[in-house]
Amino acid sequence: MSTRPATLILLRRDLRLADNPALVEAARIGLPVHAVLAWPDAGQPTRPGNVAAAWYLQNAAEFASELQEECGLQLDIQRGSLAEIFARLQGKQDYAHVLLNAGHDPPALAEEVELQGACREAGVDCRLLPANTLLPTGAVLNKDGNSFKVFTPYYKRFLERYRHTPPRGMPGRLRNAGLHRAGVPFEILLQEIPEPQRSAAARWEPGEQAARDGMEHFIARHLQEYGSDRHSLEISGTSRISAWLQAGVISTRQVWELVQQARERDAALADGAAIFQRQLIWREFAMQVLDDHPQLPDRPLQEKFAAFPWQDDAAALEAWKDGRTGYPVVDAAMRQLTTVGWMPGRARMVVASFLVKHLLQPWQQGEAWFADWLIDYDLSCNAFNWQWVAGCGTDAAPYFRIFNPILQGRKFDADGSYVRQWLPELDGLPDKVLHSPWEASPLELQAAGVQPGRNYPKPLVEHSFARTRALAALKAVSN
Ligand SMILES: Cc1cc2nc3c(=O)[nH]c(=O)nc-3n(C[C@H](O)[C@H](O)[C@H](O)COP(=O)(O)OP(=O)(O)OC[C@H]3O[C@@H](n4cnc5c(N)ncnc54)[C@H](O)[C@@H]3O)c2cc1C
Repeated sequence: MSTRPATLILLRRDLRLADNPALVEAARIGLPVHAVLAWPDAGQPTRPGNVAAAWYLQNAAEFASELQEECGLQLDIQRGSLAEIFARLQGKQDYAHVLLNAGHDPPALAEEVELQGACREAGVDCRLLPANTLLPTGAVLNKDGNSFKVFTPYYKRFLERYRHTPPRGMPGRLRNAGLHRAGVPFEILLQEIPEPQRSAAARWEPGEQAARDGMEHFIARHLQEYGSDRHSLEISGTSRISAWLQAGVISTRQVWELVQQARERDAALADGAAIFQRQLIWREFAMQVLDDHPQLPDRPLQEKFAAFPWQDDAAALEAWKDGRTGYPVVDAAMRQLTTVGWMPGRARMVVASFLVKHLLQPWQQGEAWFADWLIDYDLSCNAFNWQWVAGCGTDAAPYFRIFNPILQGRKFDADGSYVRQWLPELDGLPDKVLHSPWEASPLELQAAGVQPGRNYPKPLVEHSFARTRALAALKAVSN
């Protein structure tokens, strides 16, 4: 065992050099540093879904070379829970401090508690630093000191409470603890992830520079019209920053700062910027709701929904997952998901509503599919939004809001470019029937080469029938 005391940094969803409190604190302490990426094994509660896992590893590889170049530190990767990793390493090195950036969901918090216990027993100082949210969970409370149940009052209180301070800079050079890299190479971990999910993640550019460039492009091209364009499926009117944000490649504070600077520079951006910053606060609200209700990913928050008459229909579920429902906007979005691991927020609402309300499949099934495929998968954001769409969360869409997939397509993909991109088999259909191919004339179908039921499915369920059926079921549990 090396007797030179060192600082151990355990990294998780914080793969960045800038605005990284654990790195800054290690620099301040001044001892040699051992930087470790804590990698959860498959089946461990902190393990992300497959696309997000592949994406983390891509970013970790990028981060490792930046850490070496900018700080002179080698990144070690260790498998297991935080406490297991600490116990394994503690036998080889004398640590005076263990530093980590605080997590925000129950599995991460459970690991932190276990780690703190292990450090206490070993007499090692262990510090959790707030890093990945604008305000710590629990900081925005009502007058009675309780959590808000609905978003709007939470949002108002958040704005009163939040005082923006500029993100921290780079940590500078750090002294390497000189430990040999004992961990597992990235490539081996990446190979454990199924190929389709690895390919989806590989379509994205990892690293802090890519995250910043993406934000700058969004601010220059889309921020001004964000209020309206964010709903469009034709225009890429949103930032797509969720991928980098959820992996901690950029912090929320950095994202806020870039948008804040833009709105101070140019008054024309003020409205778009305020709406965008409000979305970042939705993210924090979802985290707060999960903190208050750890059952959020599994059980409806409104208990009456436990009696909802879900229909177990494995074939319908598979058709939804594969993008074979016969509703073009739903199918396009589901194919986008399994190709690039992402879809716009509007599309997420439409496909989630379709699964839950048109097909009467349990929202937990959709939540699990999204968890496996979303590059930006986050336990709180995913579960919160599924419950919102299903109408069973604390602040949920009203039960009678059932998205009409035909009208959603016509409104938000008016020129059909979204559907044509993801469903090339429908490319030749005229715009007026693109979102409802069953309304095309035999001549239009023939000219487009579309054969309903053969090269594109007939609708799995008829819209007005499904709507009436869902309304009856929802009304019964909502009363
Ligand atoms: C069924 C469903 C599941 C979802 N699952 C996830 C998930 O696992 N991870 C995730 O990050 N988001 C999830 N969202 C929220 C939202 O759709 C995405 O955050 C957004 O589409 C990401 O794209 P963007 O970065 O271009 O968003 P932008 O419109 O550019 O918004 C900027 C940021 O604000 C935050 N944000 C925006 N909308 C929401 C929202 N409704 N809830 C919480 N935060 C929001 C995100 O961090 C996003 O990156 C889900 C939404 C639905 C309807």
